[in-house]
Amino acid sequence: MPFEFSRRKLMAAGLGGLVGLRQSALPARQTTTELDVIDCHTHFYDPTRPEGIPWPSKGTPLYRTVLPKHLREIRHFRRVTGTVIVEASDRLEDNAWLLGLAKDDPFVVGIVGRLEPGAPGFADHLKRFSADPLFRGIRISSDLLHNLLEKDDLRDLRTFAERDLALDVNGGPETPAELARLAGRLPDLRIVLNHIGNVRITANPPPADWVAGIRAAAMHRNVSCKVSALCWAAVQEGNKVPAELDFYRPYIDVVWNAFGNDRVIYGSDWPASESAADYEMQQRLVMEYAQERGADAVKKFCSLNAKRIYKWVERSGRR
Ligand SMILES: [Zn+2]
Repeated sequence: MPFEFSRRKLMAAGLGGLVGLRQSALPARQTTTELDVIDCHTHFYDPTRPEGIPWPSKGTPLYRTVLPKHLREIRHFRRVTGTVIVEASDRLEDNAWLLGLAKDDPFVVGIVGRLEPGAPGFADHLKRFSADPLFRGIRISSDLLHNLLEKDDLRDLRTFAERDLALDVNGGPETPAELARLAGRLPDLRIVLNHIGNVRITANPPPADWVAGIRAAAMHRNVSCKVSALCWAAVQEGNKVPAELDFYRPYIDVVWNAFGNDRVIYGSDWPASESAADYEMQQRLVMEYAQERGADAVKKFCSLNAKRIYKWVERSGRR
């Protein structure tokens, strides 16, 4: 009996719900051996909210509603099975908006919010948002970190570390060296370098000061690195973004050799990344690289390292 026929019969008998259940249960069984891929760097926002959005700006291709379901819909090289969202908005209440988004979608296994250490109210805001177990950390800029280190004002970051959260830091190629300074001061704080420090990726060898910074940061066991946004870093004036791993390899080698298989994390920076290249291509580049390091390295890179570093939350119905 053709499946569609039996389905119609069951529907007629009022058992359609049962059929639906069986169908949705099927992929979960099939995925038990499927690679778990947690994209640890995504941005979501909705310009139709009454209060609007501070980023991206109106009139740009990124200015549209971007939600986790849209990430699930686009083409992947390996299916993405979950995500840790990074907050790009500087409005305090947008941390709550993201947590609300996460609450309703098991695909979201954590959020990295945005709070400012050193600013008034930090400890209170931290207490409020970290009460939600999906709140897994915050992201700050390298400039802010530099100022805190210069002023020797690490009180808020100490409080933060006590809450067992991870600190993302984003900035230019000088960032890894700043992280090395911080990591030595707060050895219990888990620190994550964003986008390999946004070094410009070219056909030339990697710049020596960035290489030195990466190695200095990686000397500290509490620092990890997101191998993300590489195509954006490779955008050259008027040229197509290189699609071959070989172009990126010398730069990834520096990172991977320094941090090893246990402290590299997969992230895309989607949808910001799509202005450089599509999701599938960017994911393919780093996955090809990880595959060369072996099957264990792939699993660690795609989910296990992030599980240890972000302590992302397993959720029923995720896969
Ligand atoms: Zn980003």
